[in-house]
Amino acid sequence: MDDPLDIANDLAQRIRWEVENGVSGYERKKSPAAAADAPAEQTIDKKAALAALRQELGDCERCGLHKGRTKIVFGAGNPSARLVFVGEGPGQQEDESGIPFVGRAGELLNKIINAIGLDRDDVYICNVVKCRPPNNRDPLPEETGMCGPFMKRQLEIISPEVVVCLGRPSAQYVLDTSRPIGKLRGHFHDVDGMKVMPTFHPAYLLRNESAKRPVWEDMKMVRDALGLRERGPR
Ligand code: SF4
Repeated sequence: MDDPLDIANDLAQRIRWEVENGVSGYERKKSPAAAADAPAEQTIDKKAALAALRQELGDCERCGLHKGRTKIVFGAGNPSARLVFVGEGPGQQEDESGIPFVGRAGELLNKIINAIGLDRDDVYICNVVKCRPPNNRDPLPEETGMCGPFMKRQLEIISPEVVVCLGRPSAQYVLDTSRPIGKLRGHFHDVDGMKVMPTFHPAYLLRNESAKRPVWEDMKMVRDALGLRERGPR
């Protein structure tokens, strides 16, 4: 593959093509997932609640992953986001920076977010476990069992309309299932009133060109569920 980010650029180009050709009536809105109509107090409350949750997590040693971490990667983004992305756990660059989804997979996620008409600041991004698993292995059940409830409380506080689970471990944990990602993706699952869309992890997308189409199909459904595409004749 030439430049891995070509995958995401393709997604953005498809959107632009639809706009330029009047196929979808799609229109880029300014910060549509920033819950612009939400009262400012609500955003402040959510921000404070997330800060309190981070404080409760503290310098956590609840599971063995604390031994190898550099920084806890709690999560980042808009406390009033309508869309939350949940990955499985931090990688090396996230562990060093304390910021979720940086590096090549993070750049690709940013492009995917842009492709559905949003900026990274519009959404919230976190992981099921907050410390890096060694050698980027999948988190173990005892680790997700300890850390996952903090992610669930992040979702409760933010209360997004849509959650995108990036990759199998995230999808299986959020949906409490052992079904493969290929069977889970492609449609929404209802979890406590939130629409949950499992899809492939950006790191997988970087390695597998064939995953481009299914990810785009999933993200189009997310885009439509959030009303980011205007309907009707132009
Ligand atoms: S992964 Fe979560 S539960 Fe485990 S040590 Fe890190 S913050 Fe604590």
